[in-house]
Amino acid sequence: MKRFEDKSVLITGGAAGIGKAAALTFAGEGATVFIADIAAEAGERVVAQINDLGGKAYFYRTDIAQAVEVDAMIERALHHLGRIDMAFNNAGISGKRAMPLAHIREDEWDRIMEINVKGVWLCMRRQIPIMVSQGGGSIVNTASILGVTGTALGLGPYVASKHAVVGLTKAAAVEYAKKQVRINAVCPGFVETPMINGLLDIPAMRTKIEKMHAMGRIGSACEIVRAVLWLSSDEASFVTGHDMVVDGGCLARAAS
Ligand code: NAD
Repeated sequence: MKRFEDKSVLITGGAAGIGKAAALTFAGEGATVFIADIAAEAGERVVAQINDLGGKAYFYRTDIAQAVEVDAMIERALHHLGRIDMAFNNAGISGKRAMPLAHIREDEWDRIMEINVKGVWLCMRRQIPIMVSQGGGSIVNTASILGVTGTALGLGPYVASKHAVVGLTKAAAVEYAKKQVRINAVCPGFVETPMINGLLDIPAMRTKIEKMHAMGRIGSACEIVRAVLWLSSDEASFVTGHDMVVDGGCLARAAS
């Protein structure tokens, strides 16, 4: 018996990076997977890959920053899945450029907040009532180590947005704890995905980022996904409102 046999999971941002790795891993563990992502072609490719491997997956193109699109996506997910046992609200952006706060444009600030913060809330506000009516469920939101600490890398809006994800996660967890809906956040260190490929292509930057982690390396998407699967599973039945750091010792080495 696979770990998530007969379970369904909704994953935002499942067309690439951490979300894609999550989709493939959940499917491998027997879950029916529903991917919502703004990138239609890439999302359809992940679904085809899962279905080719004998799993069951669906895709729906969604901009999670738009309430009407999220509402339609949730409706479609329920249509295909029948119920939503687990949700991984993972889609996010870091912004097109790194800049000190004083140089950030209003539209850049707004887009990061709309996707990283409002998008997570728009998804949770539809997922939670469904899970409550089902008698329970589990939600994992992707924050970041930059959701619990700052940085001088010029990522101010991203840092603020990920702190908000942690706050939103804790507030929701407390509000719905007695309804059997567990809500946690995962806080990755730097992970090798398309989001940061541009940075990692600069050799000096890659070395700098590697050295930030006590383990001396960047994480893989699969290493984040293992934590997400555990938080989503019944093994974590007494865990809610937690911001789980998975960062190769990046935060722990701050003083060294
Ligand atoms: P990625 O860019 O590889 O994947 C992000 C996915 O989200 C893409 O498929 C993209 O199309 C989708 N997406 C973006 N905007 C969207 C929108 N408006 N609506 C729906 N989908 C949208 O990035 P990743 O590294 O896999 O990031 C996943 C999550 O992990 C993000 O929330 C990110 O902030 C977080 N994170 C990443 C790192 C890292 O180093 N890569 C570190 C910490 C946290």
